[in-house]
Amino acid sequence: KTRVYKFGNKTADGNSKMKNLLGGKGANLAEMSLIGIPVPPGFTITTEVCTEYNLLGKDAVVKMILPEVEESIENIEKIMGAQFGDKENPLLVSVRSGARVSMPGMMDTVLNLGLNDEVVIGLAKRTNNERFAWDSYRRFIQMYGDVVLGMKPESKDDIDPFEEIMEALKHKRNIKLDTEFTIQDLKDLVYDFKEAVKKRTGHDFPTNPWDQLWGAVVAVFNSWNGDRAVYYRKMSGYPSDWGTAVNVQAMVYGNMGDNSGTGVCFTRDAGTGEDVFNGEYLINAQGEDVVAGTRTPQQITKLGSLRWAELAKVEEEDRFKNYPSLEELMPNIYLELNGYQQKLEDHYKDMQDMEFTMQDGKLWILQTRNGKRTGAAMVKIAIDMLKQGMIDEKQALLRIEPNKLDELLHPVFDPKSLKKAHVIAQGLPASPGAATGQLVFFADEANKYKYTILTRIETSPEDLEGMNIARGILTARGGMTSHAAVVARGMGKCCISGAGALKINYKTRTLTVDGKEYHEGDWISLNGSTGNIIEGKVSTIEPELSGEFAEIMKLSDKYATMKVRTNADTPKDAKAARNFGAQGIGLTRTEHMFFEVDRIKAMREMILADTVKGRKYALDQLLPMQREDFEGIFEAMQGLPVTVRLLDPPLHEFVPHQLTQQKELAEEMHISLEAVKSKISELEEFNPMLGHRGCRLGNTYPEITEMQARAIIEAALNLKAKGIVAIPEIMVPLIGTVEEFEMQENIIRNTAQKVFEEYNDTIEFLVGTMIEIPRAALTADLIAKKAEFFSFGTNDLTQMAFGYSRDDASKFLPIYIEKGILKVDPFEVLDQEGVGQLVKMGTEKGRSTKPNLKVGICGEHGGEPSSVEFCYNVGMNYVSCSPFRVPIARIASAQAAI
Ligand code: PEP
Ligand code: MG
Repeated sequence: KTRVYKFGNKTADGNSKMKNLLGGKGANLAEMSLIGIPVPPGFTITTEVCTEYNLLGKDAVVKMILPEVEESIENIEKIMGAQFGDKENPLLVSVRSGARVSMPGMMDTVLNLGLNDEVVIGLAKRTNNERFAWDSYRRFIQMYGDVVLGMKPESKDDIDPFEEIMEALKHKRNIKLDTEFTIQDLKDLVYDFKEAVKKRTGHDFPTNPWDQLWGAVVAVFNSWNGDRAVYYRKMSGYPSDWGTAVNVQAMVYGNMGDNSGTGVCFTRDAGTGEDVFNGEYLINAQGEDVVAGTRTPQQITKLGSLRWAELAKVEEEDRFKNYPSLEELMPNIYLELNGYQQKLEDHYKDMQDMEFTMQDGKLWILQTRNGKRTGAAMVKIAIDMLKQGMIDEKQALLRIEPNKLDELLHPVFDPKSLKKAHVIAQGLPASPGAATGQLVFFADEANKYKYTILTRIETSPEDLEGMNIARGILTARGGMTSHAAVVARGMGKCCISGAGALKINYKTRTLTVDGKEYHEGDWISLNGSTGNIIEGKVSTIEPELSGEFAEIMKLSDKYATMKVRTNADTPKDAKAARNFGAQGIGLTRTEHMFFEVDRIKAMREMILADTVKGRKYALDQLLPMQREDFEGIFEAMQGLPVTVRLLDPPLHEFVPHQLTQQKELAEEMHISLEAVKSKISELEEFNPMLGHRGCRLGNTYPEITEMQARAIIEAALNLKAKGIVAIPEIMVPLIGTVEEFEMQENIIRNTAQKVFEEYNDTIEFLVGTMIEIPRAALTADLIAKKAEFFSFGTNDLTQMAFGYSRDDASKFLPIYIEKGILKVDPFEVLDQEGVGQLVKMGTEKGRSTKPNLKVGICGEHGGEPSSVEFCYNVGMNYVSCSPFRVPIARIASAQAAI
């Protein structure tokens, strides 16, 4: 089997379809080479070798792939006309990781590999550029030290030995920038760096290029199991057995002088989705300089440059002189690059994120991948590409990552409140959104307050976890393609980068703007769409769901066959969900209505009543309140089915546990405090989740069911009189035997009959049940003889199938996930392997007696994309989820049907 795949000079052993084997980067490098894009030649060691490495270790793996690697290096040598390790005409290479999907900042890169004390002299002669050669050498030692030899600082208290040496030299020479180092300075740095390596590792820096190469390859493999990579995989749900490929490529240099440079570009705007080519570059720099955000990058297009200058308040003269676009500075290179970006987007039919380098006037494309984007950009690009005829409707729908829609549904700043806002500074609108939070300056303190704004001079991959926790991200340095910007857009998190006016002091934990000091804990607000940084809190409003969002949702309805309902307990939630496109209510939890102050009193009286008469008296008080609730909900959902569930939770949840409240209750009910207390302790259960709840309440206290059934039917009839169509579906919770259901059904139907007679009118309604106890799933064929619909309550079903208490699982689930016992939280993502069997069996058995049985799900899983797909495959009629997840479920439902 082939373990090493070559590419370059318009040929390649692999192609873009081989992402699993070659990683995303390797597969795309091969593909680019095949379609005639100038990529530096190289080769990819497959992801399978990474897995072999984890099993067999370094020596065995090196032996196994040595002949293929030697042959591949020869191939590069032939194309580039230079030799690896040669003193006269040296070939240098880069070594990078590349997993199936890109993991920003997760894996490490080594550039300029192959340099040593002799090769550097050859390189200087050959390129006629001594400064460049020594600068490359010192960068190489630094990167190799960090990445391969483990000298990268672990925490903020740790110092980077290389940075320390550079800072000391700058101080001594009284200079500020790296570019001010003389050639002798660079030589001194190389010497000092090597000393630092020896001091830290106990070994000399490796001088043999082949040793360097194997060291780097192994470091890439090891980085697959590094903390950050593991965290990112966990966050994204990627399995750990994918492994990473290693890409070795001929070096090309962006730092060979003023006719060289490097940059990052996007075929469309990754923040807004606008169809404009954009990106940033730096003259005389290597790739890391652009992303690290240490120099202010320039824009690729003239349009971008003008927009940037306006935001950064740079005068046109200054802009043209100091920050010209590539389009203005090097028109020919720009035209060539523009041609490639069009070709690549046409080829991949998706927005591309590319890296390029110009070496002495020659343009090379180093990398291309589908660009990360915000939720808004995701939707706009899908719709635009559909309209541009690049993709079809199904492809457009499949371009939507359902969970990312969440970003579009959440509040934006209220324009009124924004008018009053005091803008203290402006940065680049790196990732849109509105964020208000308290200032923190360190990623590991992002959870110090409930809402935080992580504020950094610049961010690095170590900050990933904190960035994920923070509400918004603010950096003083870095452009639109800085680490912070790219990562934030991927997370859909509001981010402002490159706000140069901010002076951040980590020691004093302060932020100073225009002489005014802000401290850790102070509130600020970020408008990621304009780049405005605002003092204090700004209030927010609901977003408008029009334009491309509405178009994609409409498109989803064309393909989705499984309906999406919502779980809603109030008219307000019902209305919100309907706006999001809910096609009915799948669950109204009636108990939620009883928690309001004036209702809970009547509820408590009902619970504490000793006699049926007493209970009925209290229920009579509750009836009009319930009826009013149902009228509101039915009206909001008119014409659509509304599933109302009978009372479910353990009764003691409603009784007062505080003495003062108990006293009040005693007074109100004209009974003694002792009587109240003893009743409360009677209700106390060892295991409330498995105790006196669900249909067990209605079967022991039938008058509760009577009251609820009456309220539902009366509400529907009252609306009917007003010409409003209500379609109630009455749902019995927590049944385990068909007899439990039958008893409830009789009460409901008898009550309905009575009400019909009283009103001298009727309505249509269904009586069905939840399937949330394993026994119900096992005997679903019997239950379906009676029940008119099933709704899977996968919260309880998960609880009872796993035997994990819903109320206590948070104590051990995170540890289970960390240890890999569970991949994900089964209360969030439906466990298809186990709980899923009960769902599938329940559906099949139910339909074996009643072929047209209506089946849905109303557990939390109903809004989780992978679970929605499962429900579709099982053959459900609908899923039901919380209002904000409705659009997500609609897209997931359409995708499942495609
Ligand atoms: C369920 O158990 O899945 C369900 C929807 O009911 P609840 O969460 O109210 O127990
Ligand atoms: Mg339940």
